[in-house]
Amino acid sequence: MDKKISFAKDLIDYINKSYTMFHSVENMKESLKKKGFKELDIKSDWKLKKNSKYFTTYNKSFLCAFCIGDGDFNNNGFKIIGAHTDSPGLKLKPYPEINFKNSYIKLNTEVYGGPILSTWFDRPLSIAGKVALKKKGKLYPEIKLINFDKDLLVLPNLAIHMNRSINDEGYAYNKQKDLMPILTLINNESKKDNLLNNMISENLNCKTSDILSYELFLYNREKGRIIGLDDEFISSGKLDNLAMFHAGVNALLDSDCSDSINVVAGFDNEEVGSHSSQGADSPMLKFILERIYISLGKSRDEYLQTLANSFIISADMAHGIHPNFEEKSDPVNMPILNSGPVLKIASSQAYTTNATSEAVFENLCDKAEIPCQKFVNHSNSKGGSTIGPITSSQLGILSVDVGNPIFAMHSIKELGGVDDHFMMYQVFKTFFK
Ligand code: ZN
Repeated sequence: MDKKISFAKDLIDYINKSYTMFHSVENMKESLKKKGFKELDIKSDWKLKKNSKYFTTYNKSFLCAFCIGDGDFNNNGFKIIGAHTDSPGLKLKPYPEINFKNSYIKLNTEVYGGPILSTWFDRPLSIAGKVALKKKGKLYPEIKLINFDKDLLVLPNLAIHMNRSINDEGYAYNKQKDLMPILTLINNESKKDNLLNNMISENLNCKTSDILSYELFLYNREKGRIIGLDDEFISSGKLDNLAMFHAGVNALLDSDCSDSINVVAGFDNEEVGSHSSQGADSPMLKFILERIYISLGKSRDEYLQTLANSFIISADMAHGIHPNFEEKSDPVNMPILNSGPVLKIASSQAYTTNATSEAVFENLCDKAEIPCQKFVNHSNSKGGSTIGPITSSQLGILSVDVGNPIFAMHSIKELGGVDDHFMMYQVFKTFFK
């Protein structure tokens, strides 16, 4: 099989089983372990060695993997790729079951981040996430991942006859009222009470009385796939940003240790502003880098010198110019799908790219013999933001914001390019060399 197609299929397989941020980290842990990366407990002592590969996680939704090479680290610095593990969607509220006139059970949700809400309607959905269970005599619970591997729910649209203007003026979704998917018909008494807890207890084979709390999200049951006349597109949810996380981790998996310390970090909660202990706006990465240095017997002064010599590629998806909405893009810088990685630039510093870091990334693309493109917002549009400015202001490290161009960012199905994904992986590998 063509290398690019097989790499795109690997991404799709990864996303198909990454139902939530917790599963996206869990699946990457398995890949890292298979390639000989040693797991470190963030709460324990670390004894690290040169020419060795490690990873650690936090909250089951933040992952940091690194490869300590052998060289003049103080001058070669850390080489870091940052991405995020979460995606926008719908999350269950506590006690979510709502009995509608003794006929249906629907579930109460809240919106996580900024999904395109209309895309969540009329398709099979399911539930996954993590559950906290009682642990005898302990303050901290046992955490288990859960996935109801079944077409379970649907959010049916309102018929056009009851909403005649939907194709003309659009429709403003009422987030409290309109986003309650239907779970079941009430056809027996057992469904009336405690339905979700009963479902969890059956799935996890635990007592309902042991279930203390949960973080459960809805996910799309329709799997991603490769489409297009020449198999050139990837149609999948969560390309933002599991595509960059997948490309970054795979570049690390497929690289030998170099003369610096190569790092990939996947942060949670980017879609809601990154302000959490597992998000980019936490000292987590800074602490991990310092712990690597302490474990190698180096001083804090050497650590700070190394930070000044380090570089971060903040990798998050970018917008391709949409052939039906040309007027929404900058008139000059118009990224096209499958034409290479995109440098994201904003004078507001919503992206960290500056002349120096832009030049470094262009040099990397040049070395990898890959084209690159540039994105700036249309001047009347505010655009999005990403982890780059947050991580680089936490660490004081030179940083560049890049990503692959996609359409329909934050739709339940986004559209990206097969070639782009492989090209970004090659640039990342060049960075780690
Ligand atoms: Zn993103």
